[in-house]
Amino acid sequence: MKKVAVLGAGISGLATAFWLKKEGFDVSVFESNEKPGGSVQTDYSEGYLIDFGPNSGLETTPLISKLAEECGISDQMIYANESANKRYILRDDKFHALPTSPGAFIASKLFSFKGKLRIMGEPFIGKSDDGYYQSIAEFVERRLGREFLDYAIDPFVSGVFAGDPSKLSVKSAFPKLYRLEEVYGGLVKGMIKGAKERKRNAEKSKQTAKMFSFKKGMSQFTNAIADKLGESLTLNKPFQAVKKQPDGTYLIEFSSDSEVLSGFDAVICTLPAHTIKKLNLFQAEEEFYNKLSGVYYPAVKVIYAGFDKKQIGVPLDGFGFLIPSLENKPFLGAIWSSTIFPGRAPEGKASFTIFVGGAKKDGLFENNHDIDTQVVAEFSKLMQISGKPEFISSKLWNKAIPQYNKGYVETETYFDEFEKNNAGLFISGNFRGGISVGDCVKNSGLVADKVSKYLINR
Ligand SMILES: Cc1cc2nc3c(=O)[nH]c(=O)nc-3n(C[C@H](O)[C@H](O)[C@H](O)COP(=O)(O)OP(=O)(O)OC[C@H]3O[C@@H](n4cnc5c(N)ncnc54)[C@H](O)[C@@H]3O)c2cc1C
Repeated sequence: MKKVAVLGAGISGLATAFWLKKEGFDVSVFESNEKPGGSVQTDYSEGYLIDFGPNSGLETTPLISKLAEECGISDQMIYANESANKRYILRDDKFHALPTSPGAFIASKLFSFKGKLRIMGEPFIGKSDDGYYQSIAEFVERRLGREFLDYAIDPFVSGVFAGDPSKLSVKSAFPKLYRLEEVYGGLVKGMIKGAKERKRNAEKSKQTAKMFSFKKGMSQFTNAIADKLGESLTLNKPFQAVKKQPDGTYLIEFSSDSEVLSGFDAVICTLPAHTIKKLNLFQAEEEFYNKLSGVYYPAVKVIYAGFDKKQIGVPLDGFGFLIPSLENKPFLGAIWSSTIFPGRAPEGKASFTIFVGGAKKDGLFENNHDIDTQVVAEFSKLMQISGKPEFISSKLWNKAIPQYNKGYVETETYFDEFEKNNAGLFISGNFRGGISVGDCVKNSGLVADKVSKYLINR
C-alpha cells in the first residue's frame, strides 16, 4: 500500500488526510501540538464557548457537509441565525447596516450621495490592462470609487484578512472578484453571469453561502476528523527534516526522540510558511526559503468578552460590526458571537469576539500592555455598555493570517513549479489557495486528487 505523510493537523492537513485515507492509502499525520485543529481553537469557560480562531465558516463547497456527514457530526452542524445577515459598519461613531438591497442602498447613510452615484457607475468602468498586478484598494477605487473602498472594502478586508487593502493583491487574495472583471468585464455583469457557472459547479458565492459552525464550536469539526483518522494521527510529534531518498521515497526525522520514519511515497506539508522556513525543513534551494519568508503574517489579538444582556444599550440584531481605518479606533471590529449561534453564552448573557491588530497595526503589541483595557473601554462606549465585562479571555496570535500581498502571483507560480520539480512533495495550507476554512476544505479535495493521481501513476 502506498504510504503518505501529512505534516500538520490543522483543517488543511486533517481534511486532506481524511480523503486520502478514504481512497485506501496508508496515511500518517504528524502534528507538533498536543491537540489537532491548528488555528481552529475552541475553549469553554464559565458557561461561555470561545472560538479563538475561526468563529464560523462559509459553506462555499459541498465538501464541508460531506466531511461533517462522513465524520458523523451532520446533526451537530449549525447555521447562523437569520439576523447574522445584518452587518454593521462604523461611521462617525454610529453603526450603519451594510445595505443588501437596492432600496436599502439608496436609503443608507453609510455612503454619501456622491459616493452612491460613483458606485452605481461601476458597470460603465472599462477593464484594466494591469488588474493582474493591482492591490484590492487600487482595483476597488478604480471600479467603485474611494468612498466604497474606505467604508466597505477596507473594513471587509480587516474582517477577513486583518489585512491592508493597499497591499493585498486582488488577483491572489480575491480571485473571484478579479475574475469578474477579467472574464465578464465588470463586477455587476460578472455577478449576474457568474451565478450560472457556480450553479454548474455546485459551488456557492461567498455572498450566498450559508454561515456554519458546530454546536460545540469549530473545534468539534476538526476533532471529529481527527477521531476518524484514529491511529493515523500522531500528536505531540514535531519533526525537523524531510529528506528525499535515492529510490524517490521520503524519510522524516523527528525532533523529540531522534526517531526516523522512512518509505513515504508522498509528503504533504500543511505547516505555516514561517514554520517551514524556520525548520529549514526540506533540502531546497534558497529561493524556496526566500519565497516562504516573504509571506507576511501579522499579529492579531482576539479578546472575548461576556456581559449581562441588561448592561447593553444597543439591539443585538446582527453579525457584529467592522471599523474602517479612517475611524481610527484601537480595534478592527467585533462579532456578536452569542447572537449568531446558540450556546455561546449562559442564559441572560451576551458574548462578543473583538479583533485587534492586523497588518495596518504592525508592532502594536510590542510593549503595549494596556491594550485590552483600551479596547474593551472603546468597545463598551460604542455598544453603550454600562460597567465591566463579567467574563473576559484573550489570545494573541503572533502570526495570525498569511497576507497574499502584491506580487503573490509570482509566489504562487513558484510553488507550482517547486512541486513539479520535487515529485512526491506537496505544499499546501492556508498560504496557498485561500485562507478561509471553506477554502482550506475545498483545497483539501483538490490536493488529495493531485496526490492520489501521483501515487497511482508512481
Ligand atoms: C484569529 C483568526 C480568526 C479567523 N477567523 C476565521 C473565520 O471566521 N472564518 C474562516 O473561514 N477562517 C478564519 N480564519 C482562518 C482559518 O482559520 C485558517 O486559515 C485555517 O484554519 C488554517 O488552517 P491550516 O490547516 O491551513 O493551517 P493551521 O491551522 O495553521 O495548521 C497548521 C498545523 O501545523 C502544525 N505544526 C506547525 N509546526 C509543526 C511542526 N514542526 N511539526 C508538526 N506540526 C506542526 C500546527 O500546530 C498546526 O496544527 C481565522 C484565523 C485566525 C488566526
